[in-house]
Amino acid sequence: MKKRPAVDLQVTIGSRVFVKYLGRDAIRARIRELGRDISVDYRDKYPVFIVILNGAFMFAADLVRATSLECELQFVKLASYEDIHSTGKVKKIIGLPVPLTDRHVIVVEDIVDTGRTMLTMIEDLKQMKPASLSIATLLLKPDCLQVPIDSSYVGFEIPDAFVIGYGLDLDGKARNLPDIYQLKSDHS
Ligand code: 5GP
Repeated sequence: MKKRPAVDLQVTIGSRVFVKYLGRDAIRARIRELGRDISVDYRDKYPVFIVILNGAFMFAADLVRATSLECELQFVKLASYEDIHSTGKVKKIIGLPVPLTDRHVIVVEDIVDTGRTMLTMIEDLKQMKPASLSIATLLLKPDCLQVPIDSSYVGFEIPDAFVIGYGLDLDGKARNLPDIYQLKSDHS
């Protein structure tokens, strides 16, 4: 096997050091499985994927290509984070597309942390009377959930540590990294 340079295993942004946590091969393999599951569950249902920008752009691009479905894609933009701490405020920046009445909707998110962003999204979408509503999230931090969120398609359950890469940012940086990195604690 080809040796990767050591620099690949660690990324520094400002004073913060991140260590590689999920490699691109593992991510690709898991998304292939999710794509297969969604293809079976939504056969002949012509679903609409609602992609939450910015973080989910890379996951969504890979996920929809891993399905073998006729489908539509719509994009919304929400934000609840500044730096590495949640502001606790969830803002909707770009409005929801219409109409979703009687459509099968799959919300695509990069990560569910407290669940507040997703709850806002789900509540808004329910108003539009879709035929069904499900969640596909690449990452889920089960220990951080503060509201009940039922994600049908979860890539990876991860511990409570800040992650970057594969669409996930730190103040706008690191979204383009093909792997996912975890903030190194003082003890690791
Ligand atoms: P929640 O509302 O579930 O607390 O947070 C959801 C949003 O917070 C995600 O869409 C993401 O933008 C951001 N977020 C939560 N945890 C992380 C993390 O570990 N890394 C990054 N980069 N963003 C996160």
